[in-house]
Amino acid sequence: MTKCSKMAQKLLMSAAVALVFSFLLACQLSASTAPSVAAIEPAAWEMPQDLDAKAYFLNCESDFKRVTAELGGFTGFKPATDLALLNKLNNMDLILDQQLSRAGLYSNVHPNKEVRSAAEVCEQRFVEVSTDIGLSRTIYDQLQHVDSAKLNLTDKRYLEHLLRDYRRSGVDKDQATRDKIKKLSEDINLLGQEFEKNYREGGKKIELSSVQELKGLPADYIERHKPNAEGKIIISTDTPDYMPVMQYAKNDALRERLYRAYRDMAYPDNKRVLENLMAKRYELAQILGYPNYATYVTEDKMIQSPQNAQEFIDKVSVLATPLAQQEYQVLLKRLQKINPKATRVDDWQKMYLQELIKKEKYQVDAQQIRQYFPFAKVQQGIFDLTQTMFGVTIRPWQTETWHPSVKAFEILDKNQVIGRFYLDMHPREGKYKHAAQFGIQSGIKGVQLPIAALVCNFPGGENPNELMEHSDVETYLHEFGHLLHTLFSGEHERIAFSGTRTEWDFVEAPLQMLEEWVWDAETLASFARNQKGEVIPTSLVKKMRAGRDFGRGLWTKHQLFYAATSLNVYNKNPAEIDLDKLTAKIQATYSPFGYVDGTHFYASFGHLNGYSAIYYTYMWSLVIASDMFSEFEKQGLRNPEVAQRYRKMVLAPGGSKDAVELVQDFLGRPFSFDAFTKNLEKTH
Ligand SMILES: [Zn+2]
Repeated sequence: MTKCSKMAQKLLMSAAVALVFSFLLACQLSASTAPSVAAIEPAAWEMPQDLDAKAYFLNCESDFKRVTAELGGFTGFKPATDLALLNKLNNMDLILDQQLSRAGLYSNVHPNKEVRSAAEVCEQRFVEVSTDIGLSRTIYDQLQHVDSAKLNLTDKRYLEHLLRDYRRSGVDKDQATRDKIKKLSEDINLLGQEFEKNYREGGKKIELSSVQELKGLPADYIERHKPNAEGKIIISTDTPDYMPVMQYAKNDALRERLYRAYRDMAYPDNKRVLENLMAKRYELAQILGYPNYATYVTEDKMIQSPQNAQEFIDKVSVLATPLAQQEYQVLLKRLQKINPKATRVDDWQKMYLQELIKKEKYQVDAQQIRQYFPFAKVQQGIFDLTQTMFGVTIRPWQTETWHPSVKAFEILDKNQVIGRFYLDMHPREGKYKHAAQFGIQSGIKGVQLPIAALVCNFPGGENPNELMEHSDVETYLHEFGHLLHTLFSGEHERIAFSGTRTEWDFVEAPLQMLEEWVWDAETLASFARNQKGEVIPTSLVKKMRAGRDFGRGLWTKHQLFYAATSLNVYNKNPAEIDLDKLTAKIQATYSPFGYVDGTHFYASFGHLNGYSAIYYTYMWSLVIASDMFSEFEKQGLRNPEVAQRYRKMVLAPGGSKDAVELVQDFLGRPFSFDAFTKNLEKTH
């Protein structure tokens, strides 16, 4: 899978909630006059480690009552102006946003299991009230009477989105149908929570009897995995344990064992949960008048329909096939040097072989590279890059955090604090397993600063000098890009346009572009240093760049396998779907690596909950990112003038304009496939 991302609240919420939430998102725009949030002050944000689950839940309940009362207040409400109506919605949204964000974060990261459980219940409460708001005929009727001619441009857009989302939520159905929709939304949220929880807590471990089995792995990895009292070495499916084995372990049987454990996380529990989730979403889509859930969920995205998404996937597949086939043959030939009888490359062999080829053909040795990436240096390097490019300052923020390893910072522009963030960067028992940004508080002009958290699983938890893979550095920068998007877009008057609330299938574009900087020699030279203090040699970065392209075709095809799985799980009646057969068939269509019998990767494919049908988003965003990056290539990667223009035209507007316009504003022309295609045309 790929880096997760985006508004984690959406990752966590079921579609129906996202539905309601998107209403909420849309619900904000506007009032360019008058501070809109006077009526309700959101509760102060506190994140203490010793948070008492009961006290937290009482706070949740109290906000729940406030929102319920606000909702009740719409009956018979006669707003003095149209603006007053929009403001009232905006105010209510602010509380929902905070409680849903906090619940989403706590349920995934809080070290106290009771708090995690309380957060799940709290989330469910707010999902219920969000659904009530989304289905409120009273509010919808009042909105229909708003005279849009009297609104400013932003409020016009706000109103349009509101009406669109009300229609999408099923507000115009009869009461019995609306009750059904509400029940379905709640069920979908609960199933989504269960899916995530099983995955979060369903990590697997394998036992090794001898250190000999770790042959090929770096010394610091072996050091971290000493035999226990029984003489066993324990390797988990957490990323810092998993990735190095896949890349470096000479022992094919070990890689296969760990791969099988990894691809079987949360199975069998999540098979049933996913099937129920698919069925409920299908039922919801049907009630709302859509043929299937994929049609419903793509309607308000850049791509607009599942047909367009499928066409896009197939178009990219055709582009990537020649390169992927060539790369596969290179891998197979290399494997045959180890095992002359090999007739195919298996999924657990590809990373290892790829590393060998990069080392032998391009003299790129990942183990040599990683010595330049101690965690602490990487973090400082990313901070410095941000400060140089965007002319901002990052400094520690004195506040309580939910775990001793979690650090807090604030970001200043011209000596003014413009946002705050937490970094929760290392694995823990029961913590979220991927890398993602979690919104905590949306930035509202003159009211509140944006606050967000990065939740990742990098080495460095026990010792800040633990080494990261170069790919980890790339992930770090990617997630940090999401954070910057949130922090640089905190000056909206309506929450609907704040932060990363742009079309969902655009959200990954700015970050995938930012990943390019970890391939830039000048940028790397500014922070990548080994223990002796030696800077990463330019000659090594050159080789890394040459080796980088190897595997691009295969990677693209594998991403398409994920995208097609996500789409095809939701674009038909789930009664017709056998998950095992479907995923095996799609893997055979898009990936040259065969499906490994007996594994059930869909049980831990977290995106099937949060992203549902729209995993294509990553590839779609990459097309746009490649195009935007070409502008930096022309003008200089660390050119502050281009960076500032980019910040102003693409990041700061948040959702206040269609994404297609943001890109056009920055490029001075519509985006094209050219840069992306060029990258797939390179041969080795
Ligand atoms: Zn992302």
